[in-house]
Amino acid sequence: MKLLAEMSWEEIQEYLAREDRMILPFGATEQHGPHLGLGTDTFEAEAIARAVGEKTNLVVAPTLCFGMSHHHLAFTGTISLQPATLIAVVQDILRSVYRHGFRRVMIVNGHGGNEAAITSAIHQVTDELPQLRAKIFQWWSDADAYRVVIDMLGAQAGSHASPGETSFMLAIRPEAVKLNRLKGRDARVQSSRELMNSRLFPQKYPDGIMGLNPNNATRAVGEALLKKSVEICARELDEW
Ligand SMILES: [Zn+2]
Repeated sequence: MKLLAEMSWEEIQEYLAREDRMILPFGATEQHGPHLGLGTDTFEAEAIARAVGEKTNLVVAPTLCFGMSHHHLAFTGTISLQPATLIAVVQDILRSVYRHGFRRVMIVNGHGGNEAAITSAIHQVTDELPQLRAKIFQWWSDADAYRVVIDMLGAQAGSHASPGETSFMLAIRPEAVKLNRLKGRDARVQSSRELMNSRLFPQKYPDGIMGLNPNNATRAVGEALLKKSVEICARELDEW
């Protein structure tokens, strides 16, 4: 596998003589209920990115482990970048890789809270760097990838830290899953038009889980989700 962090600058130069695509994973460090590690979104983005890198033989950049997680800041341990900081970080990363010759960047985002900052950054930086092109893959918002979860878990899938995401973690990082810490719960996600913040989130989701009982999670669902996500990303890169 071609991990940028394991390659020397000369190896990157040789790679760039024949290739201009790269895979760039973005994660977060934020609470994921009483039962998942704070690196959940980082592990997810990294698992997809590395498997896609393996399949396509393209360079995988290091995973950014901090994201925009302000709405989770009431929960201990969460580390969040301001939206403007994250926009600046994304732009600086893209300007750096462009300078050396990367032109097509597949962003694998593991955290919903990053999406607005990433797309804002891309709008600005692609205007400034005319040959830069970027794609984004998010497992929960990609209809084809998420259908795997819905087909297997139905309405139980839920959202943040729910059975769907817990399944993903059982498949890729079981040591960061602590199902014995869960207390019984069956609070459905209440849909709302109100935007989340660090005061509303814990009122609405006191234990940090947006959805149903993660005990419904299975490793098989996570494995199927990873496989589908990798297939979609690899195809996007192949056809680019
Ligand atoms: Zn997550």
